[in-house]
Amino acid sequence: MPRINILNSSIYNRISAGEVVENPAAVVKELVENSIDAKATMISIEVKGGGIKEISVNDNGCGIEYDDLSVAFLPHSTSKISSVEDLDSIETLGFRGEALTSIAAVAMVTLRSKTKNSETGGLIEINGGKIEQHRPEASPDGTYITVRNLFYNTPARAKFLRSQKREETEIRNIISRIILANPTVSIKYNVDGKNVFYSTGKNLESAFAAVYGINELNKYYAVHSKRQGISVYGYISMPEENKPNKTYQTSIVNGRYVISPLISSAVQNAYGDTVMKRTFPAYVLFIDTDSRFIDVNVHPRKLDIKFSDSNNVFSVIMKAVSDALYGKIAFSNTDLNSERVDKTNESNTIVKSGVSGNSFNSLFSN
Ligand code: ADP
Ligand code: MG
Repeated sequence: MPRINILNSSIYNRISAGEVVENPAAVVKELVENSIDAKATMISIEVKGGGIKEISVNDNGCGIEYDDLSVAFLPHSTSKISSVEDLDSIETLGFRGEALTSIAAVAMVTLRSKTKNSETGGLIEINGGKIEQHRPEASPDGTYITVRNLFYNTPARAKFLRSQKREETEIRNIISRIILANPTVSIKYNVDGKNVFYSTGKNLESAFAAVYGINELNKYYAVHSKRQGISVYGYISMPEENKPNKTYQTSIVNGRYVISPLISSAVQNAYGDTVMKRTFPAYVLFIDTDSRFIDVNVHPRKLDIKFSDSNNVFSVIMKAVSDALYGKIAFSNTDLNSERVDKTNESNTIVKSGVSGNSFNSLFSN
């Protein structure tokens, strides 16, 4: 029998990197989510060569202390949780402490950062997991990270990259969801020097227009309800405007964009026979609930979610959507604080919960 080895960190970081950062879009998702967790109000994303050549994300968030720059790239390093109990009520998008480590293991990374309280900022450069530089560097408040030559040292993974155009399409898809999930954050997305999205951070309506165009707004109804401690709000397409696939379905649970078959089928059920076969409602739905009743620690990519009481969640969402279809409040006429909403939906109450900046109040009050 061959003897058993314990792998050293440079090997296992590269192995586990495959789960967290499967492709350029996953890198973009992790970086932008870090900016949001850092409470940035402005985020600018730029990609070149489908994100394979270069991805950079610039934010005006809290920044990283000079001495922490190298710590942030160590495996399992996070400022977001510290005890096992914290896992039961996660309020941030990140918590696993593995994104920066994984990205730096399979690319060339330069990160500049400055916190408000420090005089100068710092710079760290890590290529394939190896620190090349760590020095003071004058920088504005916030964090600016550049990731170059993704998978340059993992040819097995690089082989699975698709064309630059397809990788960029997937980045665009994920950024559009992040814009919708964070309507009060200003987000700019440039591809090879050209602007693709610019969301001003005003409200959900403007975020929606930034992603889908201003004319789409007229094809949606508003959803607005709270039952059994679960708020459901956002927009659903008018039945005649349904789509041939699920690309236009965006579910946001406690501020986190997730892919949830449960939410999708609850919405579909609410439409019942009003939709043609093989068409799917389009929606942007925010579900806010107590973070103790959900589990986001299902997969390293954090796109899956489990609800502890899934039957109840299903029926609350279905009811909220059928109320909206019945009440027919057009998106374009929405004033969700108006009496009209109160009449169509007895149970609505405005609540504030979930990841900061995504609450109902802040979405619509601007
Ligand atoms: P996680 O997000 O799960 O904590 P990451 O590897 O993504 O793990 O990041 C490690 C740590 O680096 C974070 O916990 C945070 O303290 C810091 N960090 C990363 N990106 C940023 C950023 N843009 N602004 C401020 N801090 C950041
Ligand atoms: Mg993170």
